[in-house]
Amino acid sequence: MKDLFERGLKNGVEDLRLLFKDEIKKLEPYVEAEKAINSPSTGILDSHSFMQNLVWQFKDQNGQIVYNTELVGIEKRIDGFEITVKDKREVSKFLTRILINFAGLNSDKIAFLAGLVKEEYELKFCKGDYFRVHNNKARFINRLIYPVPKEERIGLGIHATLDLTGGLRLGPDDEYVDKIDYNVVRSKKKIFYESVKKFLPFIEQEDLAPDMSGIRPSLQGPGEDFRDFIIKDEIER
Ligand SMILES: Cc1cc2nc3c(=O)[nH]c(=O)nc-3n(C[C@H](O)[C@H](O)[C@H](O)COP(=O)(O)OP(=O)(O)OC[C@H]3O[C@@H](n4cnc5c(N)ncnc54)[C@H](O)[C@@H]3O)c2cc1C
Repeated sequence: MKDLFERGLKNGVEDLRLLFKDEIKKLEPYVEAEKAINSPSTGILDSHSFMQNLVWQFKDQNGQIVYNTELVGIEKRIDGFEITVKDKREVSKFLTRILINFAGLNSDKIAFLAGLVKEEYELKFCKGDYFRVHNNKARFINRLIYPVPKEERIGLGIHATLDLTGGLRLGPDDEYVDKIDYNVVRSKKKIFYESVKKFLPFIEQEDLAPDMSGIRPSLQGPGEDFRDFIIKDEIER
């Protein structure tokens, strides 16, 4: 916790405060903790409105967005790339000087299409399930509550997240999977309950209902060292 606190300050989060039990009880009477870091400037945002706003700004600058179209081929040319795309009706090609790949779970496949080395960029899928607190206990906390992350886990640890409607979700966990399947594993309810009962003692197993899941594209596989980024100039290829 001390490391996280110091790293936060170093990264310019100036309003961080270390709290002891009495202060924690005043802010969050239902949370059990000996010590905590309070981050008043942490917030949640409406990601859909945020994206709609980005779309609006992009179009305002004469940007064009083509939806429902899959990139299926990349050929390197002297001054850029020849791109092949496919929609429901046809396959078409165009030239671009700059190509930015942000294809999420598919971004390694796009990198391979562009001829970049396979082993280094191959993504592993790390799924995170969420359970919702489906009753009025969702109102028992006022801010996001995180446990101290365990060093051996790749995620932040199952934590309590409020949404903009005042709902409360627990999650995500982290589990490597071979295929994309967004069904929440219902049998994990007990594991979720046990992960949070130490710091959210008001939660019982029957308060939880399966909510949603997401899959993280991850560079490191199970048991491997933490690896968020590769920063590399590929100009030679
Ligand atoms: C469980 C979970 C918890 C997370 N928690 C946090 C968090 O607390 N904080 C945080 O900052 N981040 C978190 N993240 C990560 C965050 O959600 C992602 O980093 C972010 O959404 C990635 O955005 P993106 O645009 O790069 O990729 P995506 O949102 O995955 O978008 C990729 C897009 O590329 C498109 N695409 C794929 N292949 C092709 C193709 N061949 N042709 C054309 N289009 C293609 C897809 O259709 C998709 O629209 C979490 C993720 C998960 C799964």
